[in-house]
Amino acid sequence: MRKQQDYQIGIVVPIYNESQALPGFHHQLIAVADKLPNKTRIYYIDDGSDEDTVLILDDLANRDERVQVLTLSRNFGHQAALTCGLDHALGDVIISMDGDGQNPPELIPEMLKLYQSGYDIVVGQRLEDKTQPFFKTFTSKLFYKLINLIGNLDIPPNAADFRLLSRQVVDSLKSLPEYHRFLRGMVSWVGFKSVILPYSPHERIGGETKYTFRKMLKLAEDAIFSFSLVPLRIGLAIGGMFYLLALIEVIYVLSFWLTGNQPKLEPGWSSLMFMLLIVGGTLTTVVSFIGIYIGYIFQEVKQRPTYLIKKSRTDD
Ligand code: UDP
Ligand code: MG
Repeated sequence: MRKQQDYQIGIVVPIYNESQALPGFHHQLIAVADKLPNKTRIYYIDDGSDEDTVLILDDLANRDERVQVLTLSRNFGHQAALTCGLDHALGDVIISMDGDGQNPPELIPEMLKLYQSGYDIVVGQRLEDKTQPFFKTFTSKLFYKLINLIGNLDIPPNAADFRLLSRQVVDSLKSLPEYHRFLRGMVSWVGFKSVILPYSPHERIGGETKYTFRKMLKLAEDAIFSFSLVPLRIGLAIGGMFYLLALIEVIYVLSFWLTGNQPKLEPGWSSLMFMLLIVGGTLTTVVSFIGIYIGYIFQEVKQRPTYLIKKSRTDD
């Protein structure tokens, strides 16, 4: 049993243009943090935010020594900002959450209880969210089914980036140096004793979602191509099917020749064209799968950092 007094907490919050939600969120968070007996630090990772947000963060850091701010040199994206937070946060327990109020801070004491009872990972799982558009709910469900199947992972559907990680898990994640980061997958991959904590997501305090459709597609791409070689195998399977079809066709044509019926063979322009198009399409698909993987390999071998820090106001 871990004792509550014995450990320190780091709370990691990626922030991208949240001037409308941030003050309200911070207020809620502090109300919870004030009641904890633990030494707590709050890490806001400014992911290239606008002037208004930067001013608010500065002000929060001036007024409260628990507040730490890491400023990235531009917008690197949610997963990169989270990674920066995990890399730099001090504490035996690290909790990551969104800065828009959708992840209720009131859940933190429950997460800590689970940690104390021996869990290393507590994953927040969104219960049915009626505020979310149907399209987002549907695509997200489909996505988790797919990625768990082809990536051989066990990510709970509707998992959020609202979770608690023990120091050991954070250090394990830090030992994964990949550039394309899909943290929900990586957390599932590292193992350790983990538990799901369902919660009802709140509405955004203010502002709009920063996950544009493009950013969602990018996340899905990172998840699929960095966790799975299955797309390559799909390509292989389709290729194999075409060899089989070709073999059947050869046998079919041969049967005409063997029975002396070869004059009956039509000059099959349409079937030829059909095959040509399908084979062409398949080849292009397979080659582009391979191309994407090569692109990913290229980016990994360059060993570029996932993010760059411009300024840091932290304890260490
Ligand atoms: N975020 C970020 N960088 C980005 C996009 C989002 O740091 O490029 C932050 C954002 O400020 C928020 C969290 O990541 O604190 C989750 O984003 P958001 O609430 O927009 O996503 P949603 O909840 O709509 O999926
Ligand atoms: Mg949100």
